[in-house]
Amino acid sequence: MELIDTHAHIQEDAFEADRSEVLVRAFEAGVKHIVVVGFNVDSSRRAVELAQVHPRLSAVVGIQPNYAHEARPADWDTIVELVQDKSVVGIGETGLDRYWKTVPIELQIEYFHRHLQLSRETGLPFVVHCRDADEDIVVELRKAAKDGPLNGVMHSFTGTMETAQACWELGMHISFAGMVTFKNNHALRAVAAAVPSDRIVIETDCPYLAPSPNRGKRNEPAFVTLTADCLAGVRGLSSNEFADLTTANAQRLFRLPSCA
Ligand SMILES: [Zn+2]
Repeated sequence: MELIDTHAHIQEDAFEADRSEVLVRAFEAGVKHIVVVGFNVDSSRRAVELAQVHPRLSAVVGIQPNYAHEARPADWDTIVELVQDKSVVGIGETGLDRYWKTVPIELQIEYFHRHLQLSRETGLPFVVHCRDADEDIVVELRKAAKDGPLNGVMHSFTGTMETAQACWELGMHISFAGMVTFKNNHALRAVAAAVPSDRIVIETDCPYLAPSPNRGKRNEPAFVTLTADCLAGVRGLSSNEFADLTTANAQRLFRLPSCA
């Protein structure tokens, strides 16, 4: 079985002490590729540095909405430069977040559209973070879709069926993380069952929100197998069939070198 963790923050300090062991455990568990996602300029640079030295890692670079207020003008220039690196396979994470309320929504929207524009210019897909902002995201994606088809993924999706459907109808992929395995999350599993077969991908979003039964522990890429097994059951597939499906989708979305 071969899986791809399409969203991991293994550049973070949480993995400083044992990053190489974490990678070995992931590869032994069947994770063949990991997409390392930045959330500000430093973490984006670290993602690129890791991906440059590990053939089974790729990087996504951008400024996450909760960091938009800290970004200096030069930071965006650095993101645009980093995108040139051949280890970079996507733009983000970007998006909208009304949960933390630290960054004005207007500034978040401005940054979101910068990322979408960069995605269009480079042909690389964009990675969307959406927290408590489902309606806003759909509005902004619909605006962007007027300029042409969208090429992106709703990462760690936790929204409603209605939002998911609006997103996949706009051409987006939907990615599920550990929360979909939580016991009471029946509604989210129903969404995961309904996503079209060519649009579903999986991720850990580690070190956050480890899937059951590791809930509460530090998450790591090897645990994507737990989310995969849960969703295989939800979709009535064997674990192998579900792995093949999501791996093919992730390779196509991010044009990963391993499938070139
Ligand atoms: Zn993330």
